Amino acid sequence: MDALAIDPLDALRAIDRVSAEFADLPPEVVVKEDLLRRGVWFTPAALQQGQAFARKAYFIFSFDHVPLAQMDELVRTHAPEEIALAGGARGFRRVVVSVRLNPASPWVVDAEADGSVVLRCGSEPVTGVSFAPLPPYYGDELPDGTPITEVAPSIEWGYLLYLTVFRMCQYFGRDEECQFCDINRNFKQQREAGRPYFAIKPIERLLAALDRVAASGAVAGAYTLTGGSVTTQLEGMDEASFYIRYAEAIEDRFPGRWLGKMVVQALPRADIARIRASGIRIYHPNYEVWDPALFAELCPGKERYVGRSTWMARILDAAEVFTPAGVIPNFVAGIEMARPHGFRTEEEAWRSTAEGLEYFMSRGIAPRFTTWCPEPLSVLGKNNGPASLRYHAGLVRTWRDIHAAHGLPAPPGYGTPGIGNAVFSVSSFMDAIDPKTPVATLA
Ligand code: SF4
Repeated sequence: MDALAIDPLDALRAIDRVSAEFADLPPEVVVKEDLLRRGVWFTPAALQQGQAFARKAYFIFSFDHVPLAQMDELVRTHAPEEIALAGGARGFRRVVVSVRLNPASPWVVDAEADGSVVLRCGSEPVTGVSFAPLPPYYGDELPDGTPITEVAPSIEWGYLLYLTVFRMCQYFGRDEECQFCDINRNFKQQREAGRPYFAIKPIERLLAALDRVAASGAVAGAYTLTGGSVTTQLEGMDEASFYIRYAEAIEDRFPGRWLGKMVVQALPRADIARIRASGIRIYHPNYEVWDPALFAELCPGKERYVGRSTWMARILDAAEVFTPAGVIPNFVAGIEMARPHGFRTEEEAWRSTAEGLEYFMSRGIAPRFTTWCPEPLSVLGKNNGPASLRYHAGLVRTWRDIHAAHGLPAPPGYGTPGIGNAVFSVSSFMDAIDPKTPVATLA
């Protein structure tokens, strides 16, 4: 675990050292992982260079290194959702990167005198930058006055509609909530900042937003229905019933228009079958971390209410309902290195993660990564900086090699794989796949 290295020269030296050690990874991946783990900052000139772009919508968590209240007003309200790196002195092929704001990061997006935008590490220009394209429906308001971006923001360069229909989680407080997660505190800070940010999305409002999205010609190809866990009841329903209503309503109004995905807990088989029957085609029962002791420490609510062994068994059950390609559990890359419980060496962590990947990939299930952003409003993020760059590069290589060894197709629902093509912005695993790898077909 390294503390945030503010010195840009140290950061650049680390980029070169890790790129040399992992020379079989695209070098763009190393810079992307560093931006994801450390965050990035923007100068006013970069944000005011005149082009329209999609601003950060805070679609579920904060994904920032500082609370909103401690952030400069211009950056807080104008930062883009994502940036793409391309060109520059290093001749980068395009990679799309989710924006995690950090005023202490050595990575700064700035504007040149000619109006072009660059990524600098300190004063050193590294690559050209473009901002997330503005979907044609952004700026619209719904009939009840709600900004459409509160209801149906786009990420992954416009590919994915991210529909967080429950912005809180019933795993509440440090004894229950996942220790890396700031969903409940982010909800509070967004409300305090005066943003329109609602705990539960009414179905009619969601459908009204999707009517606008569909009519606008937006390029979105998929949607994700998600939100916090339901441990008791929400609006009189259990977790599966609460989320399934949204899927049914969307598929009823727009049958098969977008590829439907759902992120909910690892549920019993009967609920999984109901989710599939509602029209959802990809199921994300996120296991977050593989090591059993770390799962118990870092996901105490999931451990208590479901239990790790049941959780993993239900992931395998889900593959019988959705087919293995339709089950994509998330792993939060980096939390297994966080103190006080995490691994002490990168090698130990790679071994543990590889064991989990082998367990799933040998059965045709390809987990995905989200690179951890230590959010200060989360339990772990209060006292931890990010995992090392070397850890993250090694983890992407581990994923790529186990995936290739099993001859698996690229995960569906993430657009085109490979460097220069991929749009998945919160990890580099899609950038690292051989571009010739076919994308899995779904049942
Ligand atoms: S289940 Fe865990 S990761 Fe998911 S919203 Fe709740 S606390 Fe966050």
